[in-house]
Amino acid sequence: MTEPVPAETGFLPGPIILLGAPGVGKGTQAKLLMARFGIPQISTGDILRDNIARKTPLGLEAKARMDHGQLVDDEIVNSMVAERLKAPDTARGFILDGYPRTTAQASYIEQLRNASLGSDEAGNAASIRLPFVAINIFVDEAELLRRITGRRICSAGTHIYNIYSNPPSRESVCDADGLALTQRTDDTEQAFHKRMDEYRAKTAPVVSYFSDKKNLFRQVDGSRPVEEVNAAIVSTLRQLRAGESA
Ligand code: AMP
Repeated sequence: MTEPVPAETGFLPGPIILLGAPGVGKGTQAKLLMARFGIPQISTGDILRDNIARKTPLGLEAKARMDHGQLVDDEIVNSMVAERLKAPDTARGFILDGYPRTTAQASYIEQLRNASLGSDEAGNAASIRLPFVAINIFVDEAELLRRITGRRICSAGTHIYNIYSNPPSRESVCDADGLALTQRTDDTEQAFHKRMDEYRAKTAPVVSYFSDKKNLFRQVDGSRPVEEVNAAIVSTLRQLRAGESA
């Protein structure tokens, strides 16, 4: 078995926002960045799904909207993220995956950062002192539909497959841990179209919001193989952070 490569701790990645439509690969890329830089992935979708699995009041409230491909209320996700950012593992940086998805969420997270600047008590203060860098991953819509309907996830939520492009060696079984593979309830064609409508109406303006901050925003072509997309994101991050201190 190959030893896991230790995280690169010499580079301070700071807060990273991964933007992009459903299925562009934000989750896959966030996991690779997490392993490389030793900073956590904060996926609002994963936190919501965890609440659904545990049948918490929040999960029960969010489930119907999620199953139909609609966004969950800003207040719910904003407070989830604020709570998560208090954990000390965010000190060197973190990757926001699937958040912010509305301009109200984008202003909320910027305000949260401004409010914590100068504060000594919060565990997040060190990383949040750096500005957010936003990377928008883009892939054409026909390919997104194929990725979404082909996506399968191991029951532990850790490993992601695609029956067309990255199938497991045994059908419906995770190669890594032998657990059953499942399909997300919103990874149907019908829910995909609703998610794309929500994306166009509410999330595309978030991309414009960040693209106005030219030295903190880049676009990355997500239609290439996972490793190539990852290499592009890593070098983009280094350039953006180097530009800041230049
Ligand atoms: P994801 O796992 O990022 O594809 O998110 C799955 C679903 O969770 C979305 O379709 C929304 O219903 C909900 N969700 C996740 N993140 C957010 C967010 N930032 N704002 C509103 N709803 C969200």
